[in-house]
Amino acid sequence: MRPEDILVRTPVGVCCKAGGFHIDPTRPVDKAVITHGHSDHARAGHGAVLATQETLDLMRLRYGGNFAASTQAIRYGETVTLGGARVTFHPAGHVLGSAQIAVEVDGLRVVASGDYKNVVDPTCVPFELVRCDVFITEATFGLPVFRHGNADAEIAKLLHSVALFPERAHLVGAYSLGKAQRLIALIRAAGYDEPIYLHGAMEKITRYYVSRGIDLGRFDLARSAKKPELAGAITLCPPSTLKDLWSRRFPDPVTCFASGWMRVRARARQHLVELPLVISDHADWDGLTETIAATGASEVWVTHGQEEALVHWSVTRGLQARPLDIVGYGDEDEADDVTENANHGEVS
Ligand SMILES: [Zn+2]
Ligand SMILES: [Zn+2]
Repeated sequence: MRPEDILVRTPVGVCCKAGGFHIDPTRPVDKAVITHGHSDHARAGHGAVLATQETLDLMRLRYGGNFAASTQAIRYGETVTLGGARVTFHPAGHVLGSAQIAVEVDGLRVVASGDYKNVVDPTCVPFELVRCDVFITEATFGLPVFRHGNADAEIAKLLHSVALFPERAHLVGAYSLGKAQRLIALIRAAGYDEPIYLHGAMEKITRYYVSRGIDLGRFDLARSAKKPELAGAITLCPPSTLKDLWSRRFPDPVTCFASGWMRVRARARQHLVELPLVISDHADWDGLTETIAATGASEVWVTHGQEEALVHWSVTRGLQARPLDIVGYGDEDEADDVTENANHGEVS
């Protein structure tokens, strides 16, 4: 038995022949096993979908009730047998419901981690280390320059700015699924209890998080607030709306952006970000390399992001490593991110 007999790379994502399924397929397939709800990993139009309840719910919120012909929910730690393969889901710590998928055939275990981070996040179950023979890792921040540091320190910077400029609105660009809710939870944990305003595109997902027991305090839609109420307040919005007409109604806004890319000053400048906040839902360089080492895997397959440096690092550690080169996964932490529903429910 070789790893390639368990999972094989195809143009639409990795495929388990023995189990007859694809993981995070980028085009419609008969049977899909899905790691998490971000739209490049969780697409509509598959026959059967196996995912956590949260991922299925988030897909339903985004695509409507008919996003797949049939669905099956699986819990963390639960194993299902698909054809000749045993499939187990483990927490990935990336966003609510996100999972790593362990696939086992004849005692050989391959783990497809989807997107992950190994730091504490009050809005999702912590990353679980799974020992395996082959580890499939993302590489969004797969360069040594990316060290995210402490998210609480970034939140402190934001709150300091709010205290310093009570007459200015603080507009924080953040991805709608995961990042926005994590920011709210971190802001609350820092003791800030004023209402937080949201762009309409974030409303459904944020309410869903609350319905799953995540306490986010009081939030309101920015469009129902009066202009003076937005001064001295924090508003979260999709990054793509920071520069468009939507942001013009805010009083003298301080433009902030929460992303792992904010470590790169040129990126922040390019997007006219006054207050960059280095907060990411992806593992940084240390997180990626520590995790690869700790899985005990002798083989590493690297997908979407900066594959080369991570492949090189693995090889120098005596591991077998290669890039998967699958096209179709985006980067929700990307500064140019445009969510498909960025203007949902908003006038401009
Ligand atoms: Zn993701
Ligand atoms: Zn991804």
